[in-house]
Amino acid sequence: MSALASLERPPLFHPVSDCWVCGERRFTRFHEARIDFHQYAEQDADLHAYTGQSVWLMRCAACGFAQPATLPALPRFFDRMYAQRWSHDWVASEFDAEYKDLIFQTILRELDRRAPAGRRRLLDVGAHAGRFLHLAQQAGWAVEGIELNPRTAAYAAARTGATVHHQNAQQLAAEGRRFSAIVLTDVLEHIPEPVRMLRALAALAEPGGCIAVKVPCGPSQLTKERVLAALTSHRISVADSLVHVNHFSPRSLALALDRAGFQAIAIQTGAPEVLPVSGGWRARVSNAVRLGVYAAARLPGAVYTPLALQLQAFATRPLETPR
Ligand SMILES: [Zn+2]
Repeated sequence: MSALASLERPPLFHPVSDCWVCGERRFTRFHEARIDFHQYAEQDADLHAYTGQSVWLMRCAACGFAQPATLPALPRFFDRMYAQRWSHDWVASEFDAEYKDLIFQTILRELDRRAPAGRRRLLDVGAHAGRFLHLAQQAGWAVEGIELNPRTAAYAAARTGATVHHQNAQQLAAEGRRFSAIVLTDVLEHIPEPVRMLRALAALAEPGGCIAVKVPCGPSQLTKERVLAALTSHRISVADSLVHVNHFSPRSLALALDRAGFQAIAIQTGAPEVLPVSGGWRARVSNAVRLGVYAAARLPGAVYTPLALQLQAFATRPLETPR
């Protein structure tokens, strides 16, 4: 390609040089993630053009956090990727589905312990179809959500009667909104520059208010994929199509919350999803394995072993902002 031609065609990717958690620049590449957007062929040609490309994941030598070595240059890449046009029936089934209830009830129990007495205003970031909003309402919280997908946001608002915001956390904080509990379940792994996001959420928390963050454990998920690939015909997949851009270890998740200004940080093993028993004996066996691994991974110190496939963090915004 001539120099002129390469000037005419904008680059598909731009490099990422600094660790999003600690700012270091020493990385080790460990996995090449493929991109497959064939399902967007009709909906979004520019997004579809990334099909067949790949992105290296790299781990920070200083803090253990892992992130992509390059990010797509296409404007609003991630917004476009999450603008799926879900069917109404599927969204409704997500509201009624119980597979995340163990995760949700675990979070609500800990928030009861941590939230300031008498303060019951909760914000669910990435509210999806609204099931967690519904369970939190039943537990006595006044709830609001943030959800950027218009279909799930509208459904969540209709089913719960709650306000579901279409704006991002920074905009909401600028309006002076404050909450006693902020929840992100399976959300933070999708957002580039996670510390910036956590800082915006810290601004949305009342002094003494708390945050609950659940993410997959990056190193454990990679180990699980490698074990499955060694034993079966399974192909290793840890961030295909950039569905996850952040790969937290327990230490780097704690560091990210610390850098965002949170205190009293606790990193626990996160609860698993539980499959419906209508899935037959395979679902029952899978659930027994998941719950058995979860029980083992909750033993003291086990959050730092590959048994901890999910991480559940809790932290508190200080009562006074330190000078
Ligand atoms: Zn780092």
